[in-house]
Amino acid sequence: MQADEPEVPGNPAVPVVKRSEEFWIEGPGTAVFKVENTLYRLSKVSLMDQSVAFFNMFSLPESESPEGTSADYPIVLQGINAKEWEDMLVSCVVIRWSPKPRPPEYWINILKLASLYQIPHMVIKASYKLPAYNDEVLPPAKRLFLARAYNVPDLVDTGFKSLCHINQPLSLMTNDDIESIGFRAMVILAQTKEKIELLRKKVAITPPDYGNAGHVTECKARQDCWRAWKSAWWDLFGRSINQPSLQAPWIAELWSYEVTLHMKKAVGMHPGCLTKMLELTKKDQSSAKQIHEAIELGITRVKEGIVAM
Ligand SMILES: [Zn+2]
Repeated sequence: MQADEPEVPGNPAVPVVKRSEEFWIEGPGTAVFKVENTLYRLSKVSLMDQSVAFFNMFSLPESESPEGTSADYPIVLQGINAKEWEDMLVSCVVIRWSPKPRPPEYWINILKLASLYQIPHMVIKASYKLPAYNDEVLPPAKRLFLARAYNVPDLVDTGFKSLCHINQPLSLMTNDDIESIGFRAMVILAQTKEKIELLRKKVAITPPDYGNAGHVTECKARQDCWRAWKSAWWDLFGRSINQPSLQAPWIAELWSYEVTLHMKKAVGMHPGCLTKMLELTKKDQSSAKQIHEAIELGITRVKEGIVAM
């Protein structure tokens, strides 16, 4: 315990204020800040160089107020915590090279403080770094929260896309997730997922029709051949596409399943046509394209809500 860290004996309710060991520079041109229970003494010029908010603060004519001049009269920063403040200092004021990969929380702290103290290049840097984290360390619902809270539309893309692709019914979503996603994005997500489910049903009951291109020249009974394809589709593909665990776009996924093997036994089809139609179906991107369009439309609508803020 140092002399400048006063103990308050017998009164644990009053927190002990301590000096930061890392962020304490003595000398002229410095100011003392207090964040939670820690005091920081920092170069004013370094802060002004980076932040519009601090530039404005320290550009004001010298006042009689002792605020910031000593540990007894620190500039108290409200609404942030010491960890957020220190991450911001390390990122752009007292720059320190770190060989360790940063957890997403580091960039979230930067995003919050860089927005608060108007450090545009750090807002951009954090907005660029955050989308690169995977869903395990930065869950999609949180991405949407950050996008809304700090007006970073670029965070919507990966978050919304993941939420659309997760094969989890909305009814299983936690209250925390729903709050993070926000009302507007939640409604758009529900609409997009509904649209994708309707498409899944449509794909399941609609055998792809390639017209004459689906038949080989030797196929003479095309109506019978087509009927056999339809019934094989309903029996095998249709049923499998409706498995809730199957990921979109469903047909491409089914190719790794046994269903293709069963399909090869489609009774009543010309064997040449069967091979041809399976090949065409495998290459068919139309449902993948429609899913993609539905998700992109959802992303655009969520972003519109953020930009309008
Ligand atoms: Zn045929």
